[in-house]
Amino acid sequence: MNDSKNQKNTLFRIAVPSPLRRAFDYLAPGSDNQSEQGLSFNFDAEQQYDTIEVGMRVSVPFRGKLLVGIVLEQIDSSSVATNKLRVIESVLDTKPLLNALDIKLLNWASQYYQHPIGEVMQASIPTLLRQGKQAQPATQKVWQISELGQLQLESDATSLNRAPKQKQILQLLAQAQQHNNNSTSDSSNSAPTSISGISEQSFATLEGLGNWRDTLKRVTNKQWVTESKQSVTLEKQNLTLATTTAASTGHQLNQQQQHAVDKLLIAIEQQHYSAFLLHGVTGSGKTEVYLHACQACLTNNQQVLVLVPEIGLTPQLLTRFQQRLNATIVSSHSGLNDSQRLASWLAFQNGSADVLIGTRSAVFTPMKRPGLIIIDEEHDLSLKQQDGFRYSARDIAIVRARNHTIPIVLGSATPSLESLYNVEQQRFTLLELPKRAGNATPPKINIIDVRHLPMKQSLSSHLIERMRWHLEQGKQVILFLNRRGYSPTLMCHDCGWSADCLRCDKHMTIHLTANRLRCHHCGSERPIETSCPSCESDNLLNIGHGTQRIEEALLEYFPDYSTIRIDRDNTRRKGALDKIFNDIHANKHQILLGTQIIAKGHHFPNVTLVGIIDIDQGLFSADFRASERMAQLILQVSGRAGREDTAGEVAIQTHHPEHSLLRALMSKGYGEFAKELLQERYETQFPPYTHLALIRAEATSQNPPQQFLLEAQQLAKQLNKDIECYGPFPAPMERRAGKFRSQLILLTNDRKTLHQCLTPLVQQLENKKTNTIRWSVDVDPMEMF
Ligand code: ADP
Ligand code: ZN
Ligand code: ZN
Repeated sequence: MNDSKNQKNTLFRIAVPSPLRRAFDYLAPGSDNQSEQGLSFNFDAEQQYDTIEVGMRVSVPFRGKLLVGIVLEQIDSSSVATNKLRVIESVLDTKPLLNALDIKLLNWASQYYQHPIGEVMQASIPTLLRQGKQAQPATQKVWQISELGQLQLESDATSLNRAPKQKQILQLLAQAQQHNNNSTSDSSNSAPTSISGISEQSFATLEGLGNWRDTLKRVTNKQWVTESKQSVTLEKQNLTLATTTAASTGHQLNQQQQHAVDKLLIAIEQQHYSAFLLHGVTGSGKTEVYLHACQACLTNNQQVLVLVPEIGLTPQLLTRFQQRLNATIVSSHSGLNDSQRLASWLAFQNGSADVLIGTRSAVFTPMKRPGLIIIDEEHDLSLKQQDGFRYSARDIAIVRARNHTIPIVLGSATPSLESLYNVEQQRFTLLELPKRAGNATPPKINIIDVRHLPMKQSLSSHLIERMRWHLEQGKQVILFLNRRGYSPTLMCHDCGWSADCLRCDKHMTIHLTANRLRCHHCGSERPIETSCPSCESDNLLNIGHGTQRIEEALLEYFPDYSTIRIDRDNTRRKGALDKIFNDIHANKHQILLGTQIIAKGHHFPNVTLVGIIDIDQGLFSADFRASERMAQLILQVSGRAGREDTAGEVAIQTHHPEHSLLRALMSKGYGEFAKELLQERYETQFPPYTHLALIRAEATSQNPPQQFLLEAQQLAKQLNKDIECYGPFPAPMERRAGKFRSQLILLTNDRKTLHQCLTPLVQQLENKKTNTIRWSVDVDPMEMF
């Protein structure tokens, strides 16, 4: 603690949101230099606090503005003369938001990813805190049934019949109460649980309640119901819980699951850092293993951080955790609003929540009582942020687990080569679940050689036949095609002209339903041409198939079955995807046609056939990760088939049935296949055997980015002659959204050399005048464009 009197002229190093790769020194408030005039910033907390501690937010003057910064450390001296130093304007927190380990992690990430510390700090806290809002969760009203209300419901049902709305609401609240009682009765280690009521937020989502606010007012006035305030996300979702199934007690673990759980429990009990790779085929019961490990942490009064890919965080998964664990579970993902995200963050940070299930950025959420980190679908691309602060949440989580000395589990049916390599290097312990859990058997995978087969709109007669067979058994069918829109190219049959994006080196996609051409790379759109702008012919062809076009064909083939298309075009709206999934579970649709949105994590018990319409595109790609991606995608999509008692079938259409990748995957399975890929990476000296950084540059004309990267390349060579440089090359799609893009690849045999070169290189590039160029560094890039 600092005494306020002694803090006069005390120095602090502060992370300020600025693109400069450094922190800034400031004097404590009340120092003699305080002369800021005319700056105002509308913070919630304008009051000046006495003490400044590391990890608190402060508002500081920066280039004529007041910005929210975070105190990194107290320092003894600054390289800036004291009379030049600016003074902290005000302190925004009464308690530190980040502890020493959190700051250590952020410093590490800033160094490792060569990203400005101020921006790293900003990325690690919720929007509202970034804006200087108070570190207190927003609240909402929650209603609970009272004893009087219970009595009324039990004893005087007839008089209530005259007030059906009131009765309905009382019953709902009683149900919520009932559920809460059930789920708390079996636990001695009750977390600071939330109350068993229904919130404003939940009432608003319920249908058929009419004017529920009025009804609630009436029953509250009669004292049948009590009203209270609660933080926005800490409400237990009693309504989804009311559908509790037998599964809520869990399954008897099979032998492999038990083995995996035992290993994890040892690490949890010993509280040391260790990393596990849980490689379990789809449907093998990985989630069951997570739940058991979570339970052990909860018993120890420890928190668990669960990271999931962007669209892997379904209400299904949340509900499963809520049904099984008697704990306060919060979530963090893009479907929540800012105050909900803040509430989750604070609950985890201050220890009132036990489990946080979140997407990528949740990796930074401070843990009060760290116990375990779980990363589901660790191979998933969405764990890596691809713009701005380009970090891998998986890799940061590993560093974090080490800092906290806690175990971490990475789970996947198709682990990344990086993780398999770490197993090989004995940095990770491998836990395997080679069989599906329960009675489910692995799906049978058939390659359909479509050469010479009759095809209609990309669907072969053979695939149609298989679909018909499964549909007639009353089952559901998934068709996978990773291309949305109607058709990817509009082409003139007479002169070969094609409808290209004016701002990118790409074709426009035809969206017939919207009657527009759209660029999937920059978002620009225009009406569909009706005649060729080059030769004026009307003979324009739609080349290729997107989901909309297949949907059209399916209506023709299967008029008696309902087809639902699931792609970004019809799931963008909040809640749209949930509704579609619910409809699928209610069997309102039998044919599910989708892009990779359907490839991940969802459990559709009635799906027995998965058809992959076209994999040929993915078989021939320049990216060194293409084979790995392809195999992961095929297996993930295939994993949706036959997850319950009925055996599943997968049908893959290709013109290249002899392709070595396909054959290897089919005959050997993922594990062996991945081993071969690793060998290939070794021979070609690509990651994980070497280390990469990509420097990208873009500008409105072609030459400056090339020139800039050429200089970067020369600098890099001067800094370290061992570093290998490739490029500068134009990016695979050179022009995107009107910008010309180039890239330079830096490659080394060991990580240390890479960073020894990168740090001064980036510093020097930063000092260049590059007003017309935008450039960025990507350490461990996942996509090479
Ligand atoms: P994964 O996460 O590996 O895809 P899940 O944990 O979702 O697998 O399990 C797949 C299905 O198998 C679920 O319906 C789950 O309830 C069931 N299951 C898991 N473990 C067992 C078990 N030991 N016995 C019977 N069924 C199980
Ligand atoms: Zn033409
Ligand atoms: Zn474009």
